[in-house]
Amino acid sequence: MCGIVGFIGNNCEQNLIDALYKLEYRGYDSAGISVIKDGKIDTIKTAGEIKNLDEMLTTRNSNTAGIAHTRWATHGASNVFNAHPHNSCNNKISIVHNGIIENYIELKQDLIKKGVVFYSETDSEVIPNLIYKSNNKSFIKKFISACNLLNGSYAIACLNSTEKKLYLAKNKSPLYISKLNTGEMMCASDIICFESKAVDYYTLEDGEFAVISKDNIRFYNSSFKIIKKQSSKLGKFDFSFELGNFSHYMEKEICEIPKCIDNLARIYSSKNLTEILINLNINSFNKIKIIGCGTAYHASCMGEKLLQDVLKVDVSSFVASEFRYSKQLIDNSTLCIFVSQSGETADTLEALKLAIELGATTLVITNTMHSTMAKLAHVVLPTCAGVEKSVASTKAYVCQICVFYILKRCFDSQINKKCFDFYENLENLSVLLKNQKYDYLDSFVKLLSDENELYFIGRDKDLISSNEACLKLKEVTYINANAYPAGELKHGFLALINQSSYMFVIATEHHLLEKTLNALKEASSRGANIILVTQFKNEASSMCENVKFIYLPCFDEDLMSIVSIIPFQFLSYKLSVSKNINPDKPRNLAKSVTVE
Ligand code: GLU
Repeated sequence: MCGIVGFIGNNCEQNLIDALYKLEYRGYDSAGISVIKDGKIDTIKTAGEIKNLDEMLTTRNSNTAGIAHTRWATHGASNVFNAHPHNSCNNKISIVHNGIIENYIELKQDLIKKGVVFYSETDSEVIPNLIYKSNNKSFIKKFISACNLLNGSYAIACLNSTEKKLYLAKNKSPLYISKLNTGEMMCASDIICFESKAVDYYTLEDGEFAVISKDNIRFYNSSFKIIKKQSSKLGKFDFSFELGNFSHYMEKEICEIPKCIDNLARIYSSKNLTEILINLNINSFNKIKIIGCGTAYHASCMGEKLLQDVLKVDVSSFVASEFRYSKQLIDNSTLCIFVSQSGETADTLEALKLAIELGATTLVITNTMHSTMAKLAHVVLPTCAGVEKSVASTKAYVCQICVFYILKRCFDSQINKKCFDFYENLENLSVLLKNQKYDYLDSFVKLLSDENELYFIGRDKDLISSNEACLKLKEVTYINANAYPAGELKHGFLALINQSSYMFVIATEHHLLEKTLNALKEASSRGANIILVTQFKNEASSMCENVKFIYLPCFDEDLMSIVSIIPFQFLSYKLSVSKNINPDKPRNLAKSVTVE
């Protein structure tokens, strides 16, 4: 959450704005920029999206040092006063911050006693003022010693009015640095800002600091000692960042799903996964925990179902923010699998650190191979979905399920010696999905556009898909959609159902069809308007009356959760657009949740 960027060189303002647009997925509450001009800090900031800031800029081509920010508010309303950059009260120091300063109240009270005046409600404003009030002589010492006083998470880029330099600090929030091909310097929250502009980049690690000048990057530790760091190669980005003919990233990313599955099957079939998994020695674990947040949690639940089919140990899934309260369950015979699109999700990252501390073996499934989680885990499996910009995860979710499917099949062939070409199965899925049309959803958009509540029921994997469908609907349409286990209907929530209720029933597992249809009938008898989502067209239509259908194509039941979720991703998208909501920027949300 929050995107920060720093730049030294030509066309400074324009470069900062271009990079901010690439970071907009991290927040869009407000935006701001500071540059050094004639030995002074020049700050422009505004509430709302980056385009508002873009329109305010009068100069774009200064040859100078600057910093910029796109905010997802944690402390203080999303208004212009709380927008970053925040400057010291003498206006000589300017900072942008991603994270939360947990001890800011104490620090703020102390600074007020020393005469500092505050202009915002943010936690971040203490940072420039701590640097300003530091007794150290050199600016780097002032900067490091001020940061050493902070508790919490931060990626900070800082300007000192008298120097054309960037001062950087990092703890828990990501920060990368690159010397661009043009010789200019850039730092940013995400390496996508360097795309097609650089060959390599540095990752600032927790507790490290950097000072960037026009032609030099110097790294320090928290005791002011200079340290050496290795750069990493900037890999090729598989998918384009541009919207092309699409109206929104959410639509583009759903449409990319067949290509992502194909890409993933190609990458995994050429990887020596079997060797990685033999080294992992799955038989040595007495339990497996799968951990994620939001959509990645639903992928974790799906992973639990898939792996439980072939492994003879207890497999269970957890919401990352709750996982830490179950530490007694983890030991060195536990395999913990973490799922995170960004690889930076704060709660998942903390759960990963806890698992490592308790001696568990850790495996991370992520879309971001340079992420902190990818670096910490014993084994990393990529989701190969390409950059996902839309706040509501679609293609990354599907790829996370595909990775669990590959794991299931690999374990099955290792343990039970069952072999078949599951990569071909994924390729066939990709072809099947490529040929699907979703125009029929327009009639459902008309039907549901005035609804404030929607109900879903399902069993087993269909319950997880129902939960994920509800999450998509909540995220981008603000409809209060809720899913319940089909068998729970009569244990309470049937009381909510009346003749104006719409209920989706997802039924893709043949052995559960009859039971799920019983629940459908119970709801239908109470007047609910049912929409049945299934591939069992003939059986279901002969058993149900007065029901609308979404017919799915038939495929391997292990992968039907992918076939069944895509209509709901599209439905959520289409409903969002019909309600004049921007599905890429739903209210109050941001992608890459780097705060706990
Ligand atoms: N805590 C800071 C603020 O509210 C930064 C927020 C973030 O990184 O998401 O402005």
